[in-house]
Amino acid sequence: MTDYRAEKVVIVGGGLAGASAACVLAKAGYSALLLERDPEPRHKVCGEFLSIEAQVYLTHLGIDLDGLGASRMSRLRLLHRGMRAEVELPFMARGLSRKVLDEALLQRAASLGSRVSRGVTVRSISADASMHRLDAGPLETIRAETLFLASGKHDVRGAKRQASGSITDLIGFKMHYYLSEAARAALEGIIEIILFKEGYAGLQLIEGGIANLCLVVTQRRFEEVGKSWDGLIDQIARECPDLVDRLQGAATPLGKPLSVFQIPYGFLHQPNSAESQGLFRLGDQMGVIPSFTGEGMSMALHSGCLAASAFLRHGRSHSAFHRQMRSDIRRQIRFAFMLNKAARQAIGQELIFHLCRTWPAIMQQVASMTRVQETSMQRALAAL
Ligand SMILES: Cc1cc2nc3c(=O)[nH]c(=O)nc-3n(C[C@H](O)[C@H](O)[C@H](O)COP(=O)(O)OP(=O)(O)OC[C@H]3O[C@@H](n4cnc5c(N)ncnc54)[C@H](O)[C@@H]3O)c2cc1C
Repeated sequence: MTDYRAEKVVIVGGGLAGASAACVLAKAGYSALLLERDPEPRHKVCGEFLSIEAQVYLTHLGIDLDGLGASRMSRLRLLHRGMRAEVELPFMARGLSRKVLDEALLQRAASLGSRVSRGVTVRSISADASMHRLDAGPLETIRAETLFLASGKHDVRGAKRQASGSITDLIGFKMHYYLSEAARAALEGIIEIILFKEGYAGLQLIEGGIANLCLVVTQRRFEEVGKSWDGLIDQIARECPDLVDRLQGAATPLGKPLSVFQIPYGFLHQPNSAESQGLFRLGDQMGVIPSFTGEGMSMALHSGCLAASAFLRHGRSHSAFHRQMRSDIRRQIRFAFMLNKAARQAIGQELIFHLCRTWPAIMQQVASMTRVQETSMQRALAAL
């Protein structure tokens, strides 16, 4: 008699990476068990900027961004020390809160036939030659032949990422605002990127006319302002008067900002022969690109679709998938990592701002160097 539940495929994490994999598997007739820690939809720290690649994946997966009320953005405005530079985006970007988006994709996976189990935290993972053993909260022990690890920024005991070489002293914050009419009008159709001392912020509209302010700052700078959100906003507003105009009289539906510490920008999973077969790493568990690129969600979706299609073709052997994923995202992550390093320094920010102002085409060039390429996407979309 067994004292565990046996499963063919288990997905840990119901973010974009895990839910997209579940959708692809379900479409092919595999009803994977997806375990999601959060019992209910919740807000996540994210700029909520959907690149064209993310939109393509979401459309293929059956997500109707218009129906969900996503905003549209066709221009980017760069703000630095009271100066502005504005360029056309190379595509129509969309803005949608992760609370709405992740839930829509999770519901889609369930409607296609995935078994979604919410409020289940996987506490640890161990493996032998043929199975992964998951200590999974109220469901207790689950044995899975194949495991898709899509727990995002949260590492699970027994399967931690080796994040050496990445940047880990950055803190990410997100806050939603109801803006004044004038501020909302100034932001209509535009994403604003603010470069400030030891950090940068993105401000854009999402569904329902709400504005999302998402920023990344060094731990040192946050400590300098007394580890206070209000203190930080006050300091940024001194450097960027436009932010004062935007937030004048704004109210917030969130109460307080959400935060995430030690974001491992630059992390890229290194395939390791010691890791057991049948463990596919998806999304932020595979690689973490600096957020200014607005490409993290598309990489998560790419990994979910590619992993599911690799599994459908080759079974539980994960090596080819990890090799392919590395080759699809390595160059983009390295390039964005170098830019992120430059953007931490005052001189780097000056250079970036003036280059963009005098030579706007460079922004589009930079954007294209951080995106998942079309040929890679075609490979992943083949299973859909
Ligand atoms: C500050 C910041 C701004 C960003 N802005 C953008 C942007 O504007 N555009 C963009 O494209 N990307 C952006 N990104 C990147 C993007 O948010 C991530 O790359 C993306 O969310 C990764 O998706 P994921 O599915 O791997 O992880 P997540 O979205 O983090 O999902 C992981 C899921 O796993 C669940 N989970 C975790 N641990 C367990 C466990 N033990 N058991 C069960 N479930 C578990 C979590 O509850 C969660 O739902 C940003 C990132 C940061 C940090």
